[in-house]
Amino acid sequence: MNEDIEAFRNVLKEAKRVVVVAGAGLSAASGIPTFRGRGGHWRKHDVLSLSTPAAFIGNPSRSWQFHHYLRETMFKASPNEAHLALARFALPQLRKALAPEASFTLITQNIDGLDRRAIEQVYREHNVPSPLSSSNSEGQDQEFSSDPVLLEMHGHIAGVLCTSYQCRHRELNFDSPICPALAGTELLKASSAADPDIPVEDLPRCRKCGALTRPDLVFFTEVPHHIDEIMRIIDRADVCIVVGTSAVVHPAATFSAKVKEHGGTVAVINLENTKADANADFVFLGPCEEILPRILALANA
Ligand code: NAD
Repeated sequence: MNEDIEAFRNVLKEAKRVVVVAGAGLSAASGIPTFRGRGGHWRKHDVLSLSTPAAFIGNPSRSWQFHHYLRETMFKASPNEAHLALARFALPQLRKALAPEASFTLITQNIDGLDRRAIEQVYREHNVPSPLSSSNSEGQDQEFSSDPVLLEMHGHIAGVLCTSYQCRHRELNFDSPICPALAGTELLKASSAADPDIPVEDLPRCRKCGALTRPDLVFFTEVPHHIDEIMRIIDRADVCIVVGTSAVVHPAATFSAKVKEHGGTVAVINLENTKADANADFVFLGPCEEILPRILALANA
């Protein structure tokens, strides 16, 4: 397996369509715990069992408390050097220095909004209008291609969705706390803490119709956002960088194999070996906040 950063940079120089598939490890250096590493439990619950439709229906109070904890943690975090390296590469004027002919899309499984914030920050610093619309989770890279710059396939932690099928109002809500009853619940995360149930009427309600809302995230077992567009982009990518994901959550776990199948080059960046290594031409073991800035170093940034 090739571990040579310069050799991979030479691949990027010739690339036509670069896609990055990111997971929770991308945000670890921002202080956000991954789901499968340390911090994979919240109170006494396995976090993987808290973000499911059944978990929400079975106990909306517990589900909201967990997601409120995530909201507060994620709102306080800032993009790290890995997010910023990707954001600089997203800006066509800067990308030219390394990959002059390539389009770029970042497909993130993360819900923390840090990819979005890094892209907005870098574009602002270079006086370029943001390619991301504030009203949805897609952006268009107008100048160089019609591929979106960012696809948040599991949604955004600030998203709130009305559970009433007559209403289905959705919005981004950055209130902290999102409602008085949840104030401080994120602090109750010790494994010994009890689970005090909050009455449903005190949980976040829809601003339009007053019904119970749920976090507007793609829960485990639900279909990811933008999936048709993602598959179109994966099918045409000639370089795929898989970063900070355990590569077990479907469908993202299959993306690197698809790129490999049609002859593309796959690079994996992770602290440890993962299933994605089986499809990889390059494997870079180590913290992505150190490795990505070296791989994507741009002379003009
Ligand atoms: P995961 O928790 O299953 O795996 C994280 C991976 O990141 C591991 O393979 C780990 O070795 C690697 N990693 C940890 N720190 C790293 C670093 N500094 N540099 C490089 N690699 C590092 O995460 P996943 O595969 O993304 O799947 C979990 C699901 O949970 C995702 O779908 C995501 O939506 C959600 N999630 C999101 C966040 C977030 O938004 N920040 C955090 C946790 C989980």
